Amino acid sequence: MVISFRVFFLELQNIFQGELERQTVFLDRNIIMPHYTPRELPFREPQIKEISGIVSSSLNGKRSDNIFIYGKIGTGKTVTTRYVLSQLEEFAQKNSSRVATAYINCRNHNSKYKVLLKALKRFSPEGQFIGFSAAFIYEKLLEFAEQNAVQIVLALDEIDKVKDLDELMYALTRCNDELESGGLSVIGISNHVFFKDRLGGRTKSSLCENEIVFKPYNAAELRAILAKRVEKAFKPGIVDEAAINLAAAMAAHESGDARTAVMLLLRAGEAADREGLQRVSDAEVQKAKSRVEEEIIFNMISTLPEQEQLVLYSIACMTIEKKGVRRITGQQESGVFFSGDVFEQYREIAKRFKESVVSARWYREYINELETYGLIVTTSSGKGIRGNTRLIKLGFDAQKIKETLEKELLKAV
Ligand code: ADP
Ligand code: MG
Repeated sequence: MVISFRVFFLELQNIFQGELERQTVFLDRNIIMPHYTPRELPFREPQIKEISGIVSSSLNGKRSDNIFIYGKIGTGKTVTTRYVLSQLEEFAQKNSSRVATAYINCRNHNSKYKVLLKALKRFSPEGQFIGFSAAFIYEKLLEFAEQNAVQIVLALDEIDKVKDLDELMYALTRCNDELESGGLSVIGISNHVFFKDRLGGRTKSSLCENEIVFKPYNAAELRAILAKRVEKAFKPGIVDEAAINLAAAMAAHESGDARTAVMLLLRAGEAADREGLQRVSDAEVQKAKSRVEEEIIFNMISTLPEQEQLVLYSIACMTIEKKGVRRITGQQESGVFFSGDVFEQYREIAKRFKESVVSARWYREYINELETYGLIVTTSSGKGIRGNTRLIKLGFDAQKIKETLEKELLKAV
């Protein structure tokens, strides 16, 4: 018994020894991970200034105006907002200003109730609130602001995920009328440029007191961003300039998305480690390309509004389960479906997930959006098929899309 325990222990030591001695190109891998918030954010100074200018009134005990931030994925909205919030907290603490901030990603907190609960838990971490009504949580949040005379700044990232956003915004706006002291303001963030047009009138006017657009980065900007992060993330002299240039060019070409650029270098570095290389060249970036593209696509699918996810899910299910359209010639086209048939499938699936069913007009709009994201391809049926309707085909692997969406949609229930 004693002997076997010792053998086990020796083996354990060997495993860790091996890990420690393994060569790596990274100095601090964390710095090149997408979730990392760098202290410097080149090319976002104007946005940082604009946001901090607005929220700074909270330091003087005044409610700051709401802000709506939008722009494509990877344009630095999350990282910039988190940076401003952390600076605000730091300054408030040093100067004893009564300011409290909370960053909430609505992908994980997708209803009025969940958002209020998350905010309250942030401000009263020791409290037990699960199971209480939304009205109770709301009152507790008011009590926190009132009793501490605190200005709350609530950043709601991926705000388009909140199912009952009108109710949430109404509650958050109303709370300022009810408070004698203290206040609450919202920074809403969305990756969807179309989202603003879908807001109800009252929600729009309250959320969009200020609007800030984040534009995609160009190749030169991405190169500079990458060079800064590489400096701290990798050992000196390991990453070729050609690797940085290629990653920047690829990301700029795709979408101007800094997340793609950062991920390309992360995966290139990991590939170098796996192969025992002491250098990261453009060849490693090239190798990382298809994997990163896939990771970015699946991340993007997770950020889609729920109804668009349901439409995409319907197409993925049909691709797996059903035969495609048949031309008059008898030729079957697998994976290609009539837009009308997809709409029928979507209606069934939306009901199955207990979601409301949108009208055909909205459905067509979602199809257009899914196409602009490159997730589907549509064509006109042309001759040889009944009438002249739109045909839809999935742009990526149906099984993987289906699995990703199942996780997302079940989380949302
Ligand atoms: P968004 O929220 O707009 O989708 P993120 O804020 O998540 O974008 O940024 C995507 C990635 O790019 C993150 O890893 C982030 O750290 C990085 N990034 C974005 N903008 C900059 C910048 N100006 N400087 C350094 N890194 C940046
Ligand atoms: Mg983001």
